[in-house]
Amino acid sequence: ADEIKAEMIDEIARRSFPLCMRMHHEKLRKDKHLKHFGRLEYGLFLKVLGLSIEEAIVFWRKSFSRIEDDKFNKEYKYNIRHSYGLEGKRANYPARSCIQLLAPGSSEHGCPYRNFDEDNLPTTLISVYGPQGLRSSDIREVTDTVKGKHYHVACTRVFELTHASCGVNKGDGIGGGESVTHPNQYAARSMELRK
Ligand code: SF4
Repeated sequence: ADEIKAEMIDEIARRSFPLCMRMHHEKLRKDKHLKHFGRLEYGLFLKVLGLSIEEAIVFWRKSFSRIEDDKFNKEYKYNIRHSYGLEGKRANYPARSCIQLLAPGSSEHGCPYRNFDEDNLPTTLISVYGPQGLRSSDIREVTDTVKGKHYHVACTRVFELTHASCGVNKGDGIGGGESVTHPNQYAARSMELRK
């Protein structure tokens, strides 16, 4: 695969991220900061997406634009390197799967299909995925699925609806009828389809 550069993330996020990671990205852009769990979930996702350690440092350094280099180097750089297995016990940390992200959490991290309230979710879905073809008339179907607590089914349906222009039909899921089980699988499949 082509190397992913820090400056490409805005566009890839718009085109190919599942809602959970898109929410982290939007929050990071809005606040120029992300709290601990957000950084962890999003950072590991970006690592698996293909962002090298060098590009990850560029990405986070530029994103945290309100803090000084010194604070960035002291407080954040180590953790970024740590998540790439370059510090501490040098473990190769995997990115969080949907099952892990579906654990009860706050609206600031985890799966938004689960953690957002009934009013917030439809508005967010339209603003995030409207440009990719999600219509107001699709929202009912998605929110009904969420009410039935089938969060990953809702996410899969949103994938289908927003990739209809790439030839994805209802029931295709992210390929071969499979539903979403990992944010990286969602993003990788989307990037492949939109190439
Ligand atoms: Fe993210 Fe998985 Fe939730 Fe989709 S179902 S938003 S990929 S955690």
